[in-house]
Amino acid sequence: MSGVLEMRVVSKTYVDGSAEVHALREVDFTVEPGKMVAVMGPSGSGKSTLLTIAGALELPTSGEVLVAGQPLAKLSRDERSRLRRRAIGYVFQDFNLLPGLTAAENVALPLELDGMSAGKARVAGLRALEELGLADRASRFPDQLSGGERQRVAIARAVVGDRRLLLADEPTGALDSANGEAVMRLILNACKQGVSAVVVTHDAQLASWADRVVFIRDGRIVDRTAPRLGPDSVLTEGASR
Ligand code: ADP
Repeated sequence: MSGVLEMRVVSKTYVDGSAEVHALREVDFTVEPGKMVAVMGPSGSGKSTLLTIAGALELPTSGEVLVAGQPLAKLSRDERSRLRRRAIGYVFQDFNLLPGLTAAENVALPLELDGMSAGKARVAGLRALEELGLADRASRFPDQLSGGERQRVAIARAVVGDRRLLLADEPTGALDSANGEAVMRLILNACKQGVSAVVVTHDAQLASWADRVVFIRDGRIVDRTAPRLGPDSVLTEGASR
């Protein structure tokens, strides 16, 4: 089965003054429709770079990336930004909600930016909030919401419309464990509707919500674990090289 996200032998090298930083080295990574993959690894190992490239925000130095079957390198800049707006949702630790817009307006914004009429976008935004149990918070501004509610609004915004791929960088970072689990449950629900998710987390407990956990170190994927099958299914480091 082909993936919603397919990265084939992807490397990313940053040039930092006279030094080269190999942020990703020959990474093969596929996320099938409806699956959640957690990505773990130490600071500086390449997790954010992986999300940046999967999200079509940057192109790799070498290798091939396909999102929803479309090879990113073959798309024009405009086509790439359209794909980013329509097919990919992003959730970051600091939520990135616009303070001057209500919850409903924040969720509707990506649809409006994509050319949908304000009225239609508002209806779709309200529906997404409803699905996440936030209908009664729709007309509040971000500073009138709790941290957990803000994060749920950010997830509603990331899945609104016809998104195929949800990319989350420490989406539970600032939340207590109950709210963190609520956020993982929402991402899992989105996956049950067919969205594919890549979730970067430091928290092994939260990673265990995923269908698959991938470990990255020095820009390489070093270990793949299927947490729901128990510890016997863990491949030893290097097995995937
Ligand atoms: P992580 O998210 O796991 O902490 P990153 O993907 O942010 O890791 O970084 C991987 C490596 O790439 C690090 O050594 C980092 O310093 C380097 N790096 C990331 N972005 C840039 C950039 N824009 N320019 C130069 N080096 C970068």
